Amino acid sequence: MSQTEIISIEPATGNELWRGKTGDVDAAVDRARRAWPAWAAQPLATRIELVRRFANEVRKASDKLAELISKETGKPLWESRTEVEAVINKVDISVTAYAERTGQKKLDSALQGTAAVRHKPHGVMVVLGPYNFPAHLPNGHIVPALIAGNVVIFKPSEKTPAVGELLMECFNKAGISAAVAQFFVGGPEEGKALVAHRGIDGVLFTGSAQAGIAINKRLASNPGKIVALEMGGNNPIVVIDTPKITDAATLIVQSAFTSAGQRCTAARRLIIKESMYGPIIDEVKSLVSRIIVGEPFADPAPFMGPVIDNNAADQLVESFLYFLSNGGKAIRHMTRPDDSLPFLSPSIIDTTDMPDRPDVELFGPLLQVIKVKDFDQAIIEANRTRFGLAASLIGGSPQDYNRFWANIRAGIVNWNRPTNGASSNAPFGGLGLSGNHRPAAFYAADYCAYPVASTEMDQPRATIGVGLSTT
Ligand code: NAD
Repeated sequence: MSQTEIISIEPATGNELWRGKTGDVDAAVDRARRAWPAWAAQPLATRIELVRRFANEVRKASDKLAELISKETGKPLWESRTEVEAVINKVDISVTAYAERTGQKKLDSALQGTAAVRHKPHGVMVVLGPYNFPAHLPNGHIVPALIAGNVVIFKPSEKTPAVGELLMECFNKAGISAAVAQFFVGGPEEGKALVAHRGIDGVLFTGSAQAGIAINKRLASNPGKIVALEMGGNNPIVVIDTPKITDAATLIVQSAFTSAGQRCTAARRLIIKESMYGPIIDEVKSLVSRIIVGEPFADPAPFMGPVIDNNAADQLVESFLYFLSNGGKAIRHMTRPDDSLPFLSPSIIDTTDMPDRPDVELFGPLLQVIKVKDFDQAIIEANRTRFGLAASLIGGSPQDYNRFWANIRAGIVNWNRPTNGASSNAPFGGLGLSGNHRPAAFYAADYCAYPVASTEMDQPRATIGVGLSTT
């Protein structure tokens, strides 16, 4: 594969931030394969100590990393700081998760010997990262993979290579070699080549459903390779009876517009009971009118920055216009003050009367509103999607929540909480087009190692009790 150049542009300014040549896939896999046996043979305590040192390196570089995340993604600085915290906290959580989910167990010991379950690493893991959390999400694969004894080739999104590079430098400074934790530059073509390489043992992917499906197809005839797919959503937030209008509106705004709507768990569809529609929409409109959209380092701090690039902004504006010209009614128009930059205002559109609402993930600050008669219809509407990542119910009684929980198809189901902001101490994954039943976060340990069952005795001791002739 011939080398090309990847250039990263700061969304908020349009300035070039980083450039670099795409990596050599064969050389990267070869280097990783050669490094794996020694890494896997290290005692677990050594690997844990090294990832703890990594956390310290991130602590030391935290201001630099947060600023770089803000520059490269356009996220407000306060938000990038929370991402850096999540990177640091991932280490302790992953150490606990390894022990709880994939530790060693002696099952029984009797005359027949001892039965034990232990876990082994897969080998060379390719980690493919998205742009929206360019440090935290790939790190959520990398740390557990390293603890379990895998080596990692990490290809960040072509939109966020600079953050990827700094993250990997922290591993390397901590004493984890660049062959064990390898930074690899590339776009989708290099991603495809890594996935298809015979020398890899697994792919840990976070990104769009479209790319995830392509990876799944590519590896369908290789069942021995582990594939963990964390993909997008078309997430519902359902509002039924509640007297707490301001809180409900706040939860809706946080769910739909945090990170300029560029979260896999962002609420895309507000499904709202007829009787609540007027007061809730008035309050949401008033809150949204106060949202500051601005560059990441602005003072006062913005609530949200731009979307990732002009291409994404063009597509979102186009989607808003599509809704408008197909029966949608604008509640708040999507505006773009400067056509040369990807800043968008938070937008809301009522699509109740649209005959065919497209079931796609619109990854930006665009919230659809769908009015329903009652709770039954709300649940039907919420489940009208091929995705199944996050869903929230706002209002209702404990009995209503029980029904919602039982009937909604999603891997994250919340009550009177936003759809986003999941805990790293819980599993994180979805159904349908959102994932392949290999949840990340606390359960990442599960896909980073495979169980080996053994029965063992210190001496051979055996008799055959029946079925032998006496001579
Ligand atoms: P993307 O799918 O465009 O890219 C993700 C990564 O995959 C990049 O590194 C890219 O280069 C690579 N890639 C793209 N096509 C590929 C292919 N055919 N083969 C191999 N590699 C390929 O995603 P994105 O636009 O960077 O990120 C946004 C998406 O990620 C949204 O859909 C969002 O919902 C999703 N996401 C999901 C989660 C989750 O945990 N479920 C979290 C964050 C983001």
